[in-house]
Amino acid sequence: MRGFFDCNATTPLHPAARTAWLEASDRFWHNPSGLYREAAAAKHALEDAREQVADWLDCGAEEIVFLSGATEANNAVMRHWASGPQSGSLTESPHPVVAVSALEHPSVTEPAAKEFPPDRLRVIPSGPDGVMEWEALRSMLQNDRPWGVSVMAANNETGVLQPWPRIRELCQESGAAFHCDAAQWIGKKPAAGLGRCDFVTGSAHKFGGPKGIGFLKTPTGGRPLRWLRGGPQEERRRAGTENVPAVLAMVAAWSAAEKDLAEREPSRVEARNTFESRLQALLPEVEMIAANSPRLWNTSLIVVPPPSNLKWLARLSTRGFQVSTGSACSQGGGASEVLRAMGVPEGKLSQVLRLSGGWETTPEDWLALADAIAEVAGGMDGRPSELSGPAGRMGGGIGI
Ligand code: PMP
Repeated sequence: MRGFFDCNATTPLHPAARTAWLEASDRFWHNPSGLYREAAAAKHALEDAREQVADWLDCGAEEIVFLSGATEANNAVMRHWASGPQSGSLTESPHPVVAVSALEHPSVTEPAAKEFPPDRLRVIPSGPDGVMEWEALRSMLQNDRPWGVSVMAANNETGVLQPWPRIRELCQESGAAFHCDAAQWIGKKPAAGLGRCDFVTGSAHKFGGPKGIGFLKTPTGGRPLRWLRGGPQEERRRAGTENVPAVLAMVAAWSAAEKDLAEREPSRVEARNTFESRLQALLPEVEMIAANSPRLWNTSLIVVPPPSNLKWLARLSTRGFQVSTGSACSQGGGASEVLRAMGVPEGKLSQVLRLSGGWETTPEDWLALADAIAEVAGGMDGRPSELSGPAGRMGGGIGI
């Protein structure tokens, strides 16, 4: 795992999550809706987990719906908003609109575009720093009176943090429901306070939990969520037999992440910053995107010189470093819409590498990555490497 720098796409399973999953698969495999003692034990474990999630977020346990992950949660919110206002206070508006930031993940923007015709969908632009434009949101709230606003907590490509506590306050003053996709925030920043947003999305595999499990925090009061229809699970908000082992594994991973954050966040920021300084010293032609914005401690988005980022990725891969050309979710669709929204010139979009570490990444791993990038650069333009570290000892460029 030493060279794994694609944690914003997914993370390895945390050992605590693995243990919790195995134990729960043995102890709590019964259907929590059953009426016998064993089923009640599974139900009990599930409700304890719900309490724990609610405690981290600062909200009521009854507001948490377990589901398959962030894509499902985001789709559920857009469907819910499309079927009527949250509170009923804005029903008089003939053409109610929703506002979604240009920085959102496709699992927000795609369902938003499907559920709302263009005249009912506002896009909140991004500044060049990767932060949503505050004044644009303010004027939309005043003039368009949206009944829903969706802005993520931290961006999956740039790592840039969005000012969600202030957005939440402003939405509350305007009577708009606020949805915050916190898939990249949870596990990397403390979750406290997020539960005061009306809707919050979380996904376990972004912080050491298993894939296929996550949650949506929904508001109490107002029109209840009716997402998947079928059985009465999750208070009829999301039908389907609950995945108790996955929920318990998510809670175990989250617990480990919150502990790690409390103890080590400053040193993790320092490790990433030292990497960036070293890389700039070795290769001054490399550009950093949003380097001066408030960012997650694990993410660095860089612009490398030609050839294309795909060649860089392949050459780093042969050296044991796994990186990304941007969001895993934007690869099929080509260049990143997020970077376009930030005004990154077209010519640079195919030169971007996203480097995202995780709870296992050490300062030495970051330095080894800097050396490997410089080493690959040496091979790309035929320059002999001047490095003497492990990457340097491997020789010059690698053909692919
Ligand atoms: N939202 C954000 C911000 C993400 O980074 C991702 C994963 N790239 C998703 C949603 C989708 O997550 P999941 O894989 O849990 O559906």
